[in-house]
Formats: sequence, structure tokens, C-alpha cells
Amino acid sequence: MKDADSLLSTDEDPVLNIRVRADRLHQLFRQSFPAVYVSVIVALLLCQAMWGEVRHELLIGWLAAICVSAAIRYALFWWHRRRKPQGLQILDWEFRYAVTLLVPSLTWGLGVMWIMRESSLLYQLVGFVFLLGMAGGAISLYSARRYMAMGAMASVLLPATVWFLLRGQQVEVSLGVAALVFMGVLTRASTSLSATLGDNFRLAHILSAAKQKAELMAHTDELTGLDNRRAFFDRGQTLANYCERSRLPLCVVMIDADHFKQINDRYGHAAGDDVLCHLAGKLKLSLRKSDVCGRMGGEEFAMLLPNTQLAEATALAERFCQSYAATPAHCDGVEISNTVSIGVASEGYDIDHLLHCADEALYQAKAAGRNRVVSQACPADAG
Ligand code: GH3
Ligand code: MG
Ligand code: MG
Repeated sequence: MKDADSLLSTDEDPVLNIRVRADRLHQLFRQSFPAVYVSVIVALLLCQAMWGEVRHELLIGWLAAICVSAAIRYALFWWHRRRKPQGLQILDWEFRYAVTLLVPSLTWGLGVMWIMRESSLLYQLVGFVFLLGMAGGAISLYSARRYMAMGAMASVLLPATVWFLLRGQQVEVSLGVAALVFMGVLTRASTSLSATLGDNFRLAHILSAAKQKAELMAHTDELTGLDNRRAFFDRGQTLANYCERSRLPLCVVMIDADHFKQINDRYGHAAGDDVLCHLAGKLKLSLRKSDVCGRMGGEEFAMLLPNTQLAEATALAERFCQSYAATPAHCDGVEISNTVSIGVASEGYDIDHLLHCADEALYQAKAAGRNRVVSQACPADAG
């Protein structure tokens, strides 16, 4: 039995890993659109703060560059919203997303560093505080895809940090070192956020696959792949309700393999299983899309035929009976012939009553010598 840690291990299932990668990108597109506006608003505030200190052409030029990169990013989100990529299709958008994130991040990092070069220490500090805020925001917004968060953070913060360190003045070196420490802390936070998110996505896929499997197992007969008894009644009730509302005739057909015990005794249980699969396969082939068919237990099967009169259902059962008797099963090179007895019933929409009625007809078919069809109409109020 796998424990939770091994289920969450990253290298185990490449398909799962690709799905998780797609989930991460969907998450990025969902959560990061507001950053397009925030970037422009914060750039405006920085320009306002620096207006009395730095050349206006420089500030306006930088602001224009921020607006252009924001417009390109806005276009990406607009396009994404129009195309609505589903599932793994989102992976085609990863490169565009990364490039349009890197361009404004670098515009911020290089641009503010350039502006700081023309400022006094106080205004350098102001610019630096803005950069720290933007870098922190990048980590919280883009950690769903860690390399993007790290790329955005480094693009925003590294140019000014390096510039501070290279200047060599004590205050500026301290600021540069502080920025490096801050980046270290952000890197750790991003790693942990990204890992937690990945585990959540992975777990969601595992749980959803397990749920689907459990649902399938709860409804399917393991040997034949047909509906099991419970699914037959579930689907059958829905079908009967539909027929009743639409005033369509409904027939039930019960099929039982003849002398099946002898087949087991003579050829073995495994060969008996093969014959049951052969019988189920032939039943599947004779089904219409709207019919419901299930294994009721052992060597007994049932079908519900909507919009079918008793005479039609009887003719269908006769054809099946003859065809099955004429088509032996092949088990490990041995031909095993078998026959079925069939009971057909109609009238009303009460499945239990119809099954009971078909069972009676089946019993008569057995009593009359097997390999035959008996049909009867049993009005519900006839007892
Ligand atoms: P009848 O013609 O009267 O129906 O005779 P029968 O032998 O088919 O009926 P009976 O009820 O006496 O025996 C049914 C046999 O079906 C006995 C049981 O072992 C076998 N059977 C039930 N389920 C399975 C299964 O899943 N696999 C195999 N191989 N045999 C099964
Ligand atoms: Mg039988
Ligand atoms: Mg039986």
C-alpha cells in the first residue's frame, strides 16, 4: 500500500507531472492579471515621488516603457481569455507568459536603477523600497511556477543590488547586502509555496482518479465489464421513468446460461469464466445505445429494452438464442458450445414486477427443455 509521501513523490509519474505543470500555469493566469494594473499604478506613484528629484524626460521615458510592457501583457491575458485553453493546451502558453513577465520585470529593475543613479541617497532609498515591494509581490504572485517567480524577483531587484554593491560606499553596500538577504528569504518562501501548491495539485489529480475508479468499480461487473446488478437497477429506473413519461413500451429480457454447472465441472472454472465473457460480449453486440444490460449474478443477465413491443423483443431474443447456440466460445484452443434460455416480459414500468414476470417466463423456458424463448405480458394489476 502506497503511503502519502510516495504518492506525492515528484518523479514517479511523468504524465501526472505534466498535468501538475499545466495546473500551475492555469493558476498563474487566474491569479496574476491584476499585476498588470498594479505595475502601472506603482510606477506612476514612484514617478510622482521622484518628480522633484529626477529629470522628467527620464521618468516619462521609463513610465512609457512600463506602460508598453503592461499593454503587451494585457494583450496576452485578453488573448488567453478569448482562446480559453483547456487542460494541457495551456502548456503552449508558458513561453509567452514567461517572456511577457520578464520584460516588465527587467523594465522595473533596470529602469529604477537608472533613475536611482541620478538621485540623492534619500531618493535612492525611496526607489529601493519600491523595488523591494515589487519583488515581494512577484514571489507571492508567481510562485505557482517557481522559476518565473525567481526570474521576476531577480530582474526587479538584482540590478539595483549589484549597483549598490559596486558603489562601495558603506551605506550602499549595506543596502546591497540587505537586498541579497531579502532575496534569500524570498527564495525560500517561494520554494515552499511552490512545493505546497504542487502537492495540492498532485493530490487533487490522484483523488479524482481514485474517485473515478471507485465509481466505475461500484457500477461495473469485474468479469464481463457489463453493468452490475446495482447499476442495472439505477440506470433501469431512469430508463423506466423516461419510458413512462413518454408513454413508450418497455420490455425486460432475462437470459440464463443452460447447464452452466456442467461447463464448470467439465472444463474448469476459468473456462467457465471465459464462456461468461463470450456470452456478455455477444450481448453487448446485440445492444442498442438506449438499452440497459447488466449481469444480475452468476450466469444470469438482464436487459431493458425501451420503446420496444413484446413481439419485437421476443424476435430479438429468438435471434440471440439461435446465434449464441451457433457460436461456441474458444477457451485455450477448446471450443465450448453452450445455449441460453430467455424469458421476455412487458407491460408497465415497475422494474421489479417486470423482472419477476420475465423470471417466470425464463423458468417456463427451462422447464420446456432450455435453449428457447418464452415471453409473456404481465399487467401490473394482474397480480
Ligand atoms: P440451468 O440450466 O438450470 O440454469 O443450470 P445451471 O447449471 O446453469 O444452473 P445452476 O444454478 O445449477 O448453476 C449455475 C452455475 O453457474 C453454478 C456456478 O458455479 C456457476 N457460476 C456462477 N457464477 C459463476 C462465475 O462467475 N464463473 C463461473 N465459472 N461459474 C459461475
Ligand atoms: Mg443456468
Ligand atoms: Mg441461474
